[in-house]
Amino acid sequence: MRFRGLSKKAILYGEGRVTFRWKNREITREWIGVVRIAHDMFIDEKNLHDFMVEKSCDSCNGHRLNPRSLAVRVGDKSIADIIDMPIEKSYKYFSKKSNFEFLTDTTKTNCKTNLKRDRG
Ligand SMILES: [Zn+2]
Repeated sequence: MRFRGLSKKAILYGEGRVTFRWKNREITREWIGVVRIAHDMFIDEKNLHDFMVEKSCDSCNGHRLNPRSLAVRVGDKSIADIIDMPIEKSYKYFSKKSNFEFLTDTTKTNCKTNLKRDRG
């Protein structure tokens, strides 16, 4: 936005109807001034804060995953549990063979083959 021809005072405090260029178009509007705009933005933000509440999503409980993804389980853990684990804890979890005794030999072989392929 350019304020060609406006005084510093007019830019700050407004000056009736003003014509300016915005995105290659000439627009004529009531100019209330930067100070008033900033004040209104501040007030609006303050008002918005009064209406804001922190609340987990009813659908994913804050995990930001769709129901199909949330249904994925790794052993006795949901994918959401795995994601929430600190890296050291998940390393221990995945290192412990007893957490994966439920896997059949065929599944274990397939996993090893896929990991080998994916690691290149
Ligand atoms: Zn959600």
